[in-house]
Amino acid sequence: MLTLNKGLILFSYEHCQQCGICKTACPQKAISFKLRKNGLQDIIIDIDKCILCKKCVNICPANKECNYRDYSDEFPNKKYFLGFNSNDKIRRESSSGGVCKTLIIEGLRSEYIDGVYTLKKTDKYPYAEGEFYTKENIPDYCDLPNSIYHSVMACTNVNRIEKCNRLMIVGTSCQLRALEKFAKNKCNELIKICIFCKQQKTLDSTRFLAKIIGEKINKDKEFDAQYRGTGWPGIVKINNSSLPWHRAAQLPFGRRLWTVPGCDVCGDSYGIESNADITLMDPWIIRKSNELGETLITVHTEKGLDILKDIPNIVLEAKSYTEVEPALSLKDVWRKQQLVPFFRGEECGDKIIKAGKAEFRQRKILSCIAKKLPRMPILFYRVLCKFPDLRNKILK
Ligand SMILES: Cc1cc2nc3c(=O)[nH]c(=O)nc-3n(C[C@H](O)[C@H](O)[C@H](O)COP(=O)(O)OP(=O)(O)OC[C@H]3O[C@@H](n4cnc5c(N)ncnc54)[C@H](O)[C@@H]3O)c2cc1C
Ligand code: SF4
Ligand code: SF4
Ligand code: SF4
Repeated sequence: MLTLNKGLILFSYEHCQQCGICKTACPQKAISFKLRKNGLQDIIIDIDKCILCKKCVNICPANKECNYRDYSDEFPNKKYFLGFNSNDKIRRESSSGGVCKTLIIEGLRSEYIDGVYTLKKTDKYPYAEGEFYTKENIPDYCDLPNSIYHSVMACTNVNRIEKCNRLMIVGTSCQLRALEKFAKNKCNELIKICIFCKQQKTLDSTRFLAKIIGEKINKDKEFDAQYRGTGWPGIVKINNSSLPWHRAAQLPFGRRLWTVPGCDVCGDSYGIESNADITLMDPWIIRKSNELGETLITVHTEKGLDILKDIPNIVLEAKSYTEVEPALSLKDVWRKQQLVPFFRGEECGDKIIKAGKAEFRQRKILSCIAKKLPRMPILFYRVLCKFPDLRNKILK
């Protein structure tokens, strides 16, 4: 997070959401990145170049406090679908149903949209970067990454966005918040696709997964990482070794270990504060295992509904709120929201302080066990996960 304090631009790593937009926003090229061992970037400000214009401060998504009051009240009135690409191969190789890639690619092919800003795969860590696509430059399905759970500074290439009529931006809630200002000035109509997200990970999380499956990785040495795809819920694959995702997800990294620090001050997993038109997520609980995968779609706006109807190659099955409610993670999002003031260092009640401190302790102990102990059988980590989540116990 960036703030202006006593005539200096200050960077707080503890609140940084690793979106990368500050560097692009700076007119003086006064901002650079320095990669940490955990795969996250420190933001360095060159005070000799800085003219204190505050552009970086104003655009930083971590500075924007959201209004969480009544956040979930509207959910019973929203529209929901399970959706997937009509081609079984694409569906199977995507994160869940491949709806996101279909919106991007078929949206451009059918000329429903004339520009998209999203990620493209690269061959160097973090293995993805922001890219602007047009109908002259339509990606193939294999050019777009599946869900990447280690941190990607998705907004560093926003300068590639060219003026167009209907522009689609795709990203997690913080990335949409960061992108919005830039994108609005570049188009007549903006469509926002939110990738539901409760946390993004540091490289230590991938190192832990690598350890479990008998691989070793380093940010300076190339490695192959695939977090999802190959069916649903898919696999995690590091170099040549893989683990079914439903087993990987039971490991204690799900307990908010090795999380990007700024994720602690983000309680808007659905992108509601950034006015997302639709949010895409996994149908956990309501679809236990399905070789081919489906994407759970929450529709927030009329525009969102039109996109789904008008962009070809998406098969849709309408669902009621009651049918999808177990998969919406609303309770988890609510718990995150409760602790945001604690992590922002603001005044909060005793219960919140107790839950926040308990979460800190829990993360410390679990990450210490996971780091210090040699490679243990998966059963060991599954038992570890059976211990009650202290934050949830206190907040209930
Ligand atoms: C960091 C992260 C955390 C998530 N957490 C959850 C969760 O807790 N619960 C849940 O139900 N779903 C979560 N998801 C969403 C889920 O993994 C799928 O992305 C979603 O179901 C869409 O599936 P799809 O098949 O339509 O996507 P696909 O068609 O496979 O397309 C994936 C799209 O996501 C983009 N993308 C991938 N990684 C990133 C990234 N790091 N930042 C920005 N864009 C990215 C790609 O560029 C591509 O456009 C998370 C996704 C991410 C990236
Ligand atoms: S205040 Fe302006 S010049 Fe200084 S780092 Fe931020 S954007 Fe750059
Ligand atoms: S959250 Fe984004 S804009 Fe803010 S400091 Fe971090 S990388 Fe820069
Ligand atoms: S939890 Fe919030 S801050 Fe963290 S990556 Fe996801 S959307 Fe961004």
